[in-house]
Amino acid sequence: MVFSAEFCIISSVDTGKIKRNAIFALQSLNQLLWPAVCANCGQSVCETDNNLCKKCWDELLFCTAGDYCRRCGRDASRYALINGACPNCQDNEIHFDRIARSGVYADTLQKMILAFKNGKTELDLTLGFLANSALAGSGFCNEIDFFVPVPLHWTRRLIRGYNQSLVLAGKLKHSTAKINTDLVRIKRTKTQPAMVSPAARARNVADAFAVRKGHNFAGKNICLIDDIKTTGATLNECAKVLKEAGVSKVFALVLAVAGQNI
Ligand SMILES: [Zn+2]
Ligand SMILES: [Zn+2]
Repeated sequence: MVFSAEFCIISSVDTGKIKRNAIFALQSLNQLLWPAVCANCGQSVCETDNNLCKKCWDELLFCTAGDYCRRCGRDASRYALINGACPNCQDNEIHFDRIARSGVYADTLQKMILAFKNGKTELDLTLGFLANSALAGSGFCNEIDFFVPVPLHWTRRLIRGYNQSLVLAGKLKHSTAKINTDLVRIKRTKTQPAMVSPAARARNVADAFAVRKGHNFAGKNICLIDDIKTTGATLNECAKVLKEAGVSKVFALVLAVAGQNI
């Protein structure tokens, strides 16, 4: 009996060690056959580096530093806010209630967002991580009923093959809020970067959105998801349509805010 018990202990220790060695050997083989590379620059990285090399993480986190206005998303010190609005948005009509951003549209973050929109969907893990950090620090995370990705016109989605805002929404971690796609784009608009003035951008997206019949938006709090906010014309138009449909509060979560000087 004693021999049998000792044998069992020895054999269980050995089994654990063998399993660990086997996993290590498989991981090494996996690394050898399919070496992990940085999703941004292609440098080889460890499995534990979360898809980016240290240099790209450092550059990316540099784009996400800094305080911003929770009303318009532009760079602003908290001391420059008057009644929750920065000097840039004091007189602007904004239909969404608050905004959270991951960073500014520049350098590595800009490069990654452009690549993400142009087929490099494997960047969803890194960009999803940034979006979740922004959401956690937004102050409105617990109020959200639905995540609503800013919709693409169906023709544009057909060409691109996916809506990057919907892919991003799929990476958000939330215990109760669900993704809702009952906001649709009914007008094919010109690409916003082609226009500079805020008025031209607002005209371009006017009447571009609608809600589907049978939507469940009344009385709910929505968080719009988009990759970039420039003048805010698109988010503003979406928020206006949602509020007309009975939505209580509209928040916005974006990866980056561009056009700091517009
Ligand atoms: Zn890199
Ligand atoms: Zn502002």
